[in-house]
Amino acid sequence: MTHVARRETAEIMVQGMSVSPGVAFGTVFLMKTDEEPVVSRSLQPDAVPEELARFAAAVDATREQIQTIQRNVREHIGSHDAGILDVHLMVLDDDVFLEEIREEIRERLHNAEYAVWMVSDRYIDALSRVHDDYLRERKVDVKDIARRLLRYLGGRRSASMAIIPPGSIIVADSLAPSDTALLRHELAGGLACDFGSPVSHSAIMARALEIPAVVALHDITCRVVPGETLLIDGNNGIVFIRPTAERIKTYDALMDRRHRLRVDIVNRVRGMPAAMTDNVMVSLRANIDAPADIDDVIKYGGDGIGLFRSENIFLRDGRYAGEQSQIDVYRAVVERMGHSPVIVRTLDLGGDKMLPDTPIARENNPFLGCRGLRFCLTETDAFKIQLRAIATVAVYGNLKIMYPMVSDVDELLRANELLRGVCENAGLAVPAVGVMIETPAAAVCADAIAPHVAFMSIGSNDLIQYAMAADRGNDLVSYLFQPAHPAILRLIKITVDAAAANGVPVGICGEMAGDPVMAPLLIGLGITDLSMVASSIPLVKTVVRSISMTEARALADEALKSRSGKDVQQNCREWLKQRVPDVYELIG
Ligand code: PEP
Ligand code: MG
Repeated sequence: MTHVARRETAEIMVQGMSVSPGVAFGTVFLMKTDEEPVVSRSLQPDAVPEELARFAAAVDATREQIQTIQRNVREHIGSHDAGILDVHLMVLDDDVFLEEIREEIRERLHNAEYAVWMVSDRYIDALSRVHDDYLRERKVDVKDIARRLLRYLGGRRSASMAIIPPGSIIVADSLAPSDTALLRHELAGGLACDFGSPVSHSAIMARALEIPAVVALHDITCRVVPGETLLIDGNNGIVFIRPTAERIKTYDALMDRRHRLRVDIVNRVRGMPAAMTDNVMVSLRANIDAPADIDDVIKYGGDGIGLFRSENIFLRDGRYAGEQSQIDVYRAVVERMGHSPVIVRTLDLGGDKMLPDTPIARENNPFLGCRGLRFCLTETDAFKIQLRAIATVAVYGNLKIMYPMVSDVDELLRANELLRGVCENAGLAVPAVGVMIETPAAAVCADAIAPHVAFMSIGSNDLIQYAMAADRGNDLVSYLFQPAHPAILRLIKITVDAAAANGVPVGICGEMAGDPVMAPLLIGLGITDLSMVASSIPLVKTVVRSISMTEARALADEALKSRSGKDVQQNCREWLKQRVPDVYELIG
């Protein structure tokens, strides 16, 4: 008797880690991001016409795909960005390039995949060696085209965001921030990933876009097939493969209740000040990735932008943004924010945020390598362009500059010197400068940094990663990612004390600032300037309006005496449950 392998049809529940709340139900769009190796095959001469036809079809399909992406980008992001894809189309229409590939197939009897790979590699190599910056950059376009052609020839459609059917549940091994930067709510109903952790940059972006997401599902990409149904419970970190009708009904009711509760909270605090019960005012600002995020900042009543992760405008295109396009972006943000402060963080590349073809793309320990300000101090031309663009826009509003990943005061002094030089040459005023405190070295030496800056902002995501020596994107060590750990609370306290002693304001813009459980503790530690994903503002404001400074200080004093981060976390959760039950239920 033959046994026929059948796909399971029963519902399966998979437990992962919650990174973005909410419930999503839809069909699977499978997206594996790992590249397959290119295989070389020798053709029989009579197979050549067929191989040439296969190559021609790949070129046509790739052209069509890029035109679709271009239409989408034009509609949703802007015509300037859409224009960038013209260069891709030019590569595809370059007859010399195409003919060289055809020659490899015709004369040397290589299969189409290998011919594409060989010829594009030759071009990339030649372009890498030219001196002209613009031409050198074109290797990125050749690389991208080659990747798309290879994906088509390998029978796999490119996992471009532009071809995702609306409302899909994206299932991926992991998502790079550059992938997530292209996600839009209409397309991605939800996200489920094999790998990841709550503070990876992709998770942060999913939260900003309010896309329910679960990560650390280990093998979800192997357990689903495209088109089958998936239900994501982003609050509890659970995914149901092929959910039953009953399950969907239960979740429908739950979603409905949560939605009503959230709308209630949002409406209740709209237009209200973030004032504690003893009238101490707290500033609740927003973290953004692009000008499009300002809609949410206004909707949720943010007091300005505490963190604009400017590198995302570079990552979206996979290349440096030119000076004018940076000016356009910063100006769009500043003008919409009126008099409210806007803090533009300078390029934070490195770590998990790579631009293709930069030297740092090949580091062994990228999070400990040439990241953030370190990178900018080696790529000074790009850094100066960004500094000048920010300084140019500063006249239109309340714009400030913030350097990421500072470990040593000398780095800050060198950056300030470059900024002064750029402003002097261009006849511009020097904007206010601040630093992120996100390395233990910066926290411990905050007293040495403070005299040279106008403000400091604690980047708790990285501060926790570096203090606990636990990769923020690795779910295997995410148990160490404890915001309330004594090591973290003490580093925050050292920073706050150094800032106060020097009369420098200090805020926080890591994810912990937007966590309603952690916010009272941070305020009690002396931080009354919190910056977070815009959708968290109403929840944190509700918490702020439910507590006095005296109470918050008592919570913080108690926490500083504790030796266990888990105990502190539990106490803070208990406080929230008792005092602000509706917010507690929502984040549950
Ligand atoms: C941080 O590290 O806390 C931070 C806000 O920066 P990012 O998450 O972009 O590294
Ligand atoms: Mg950081």
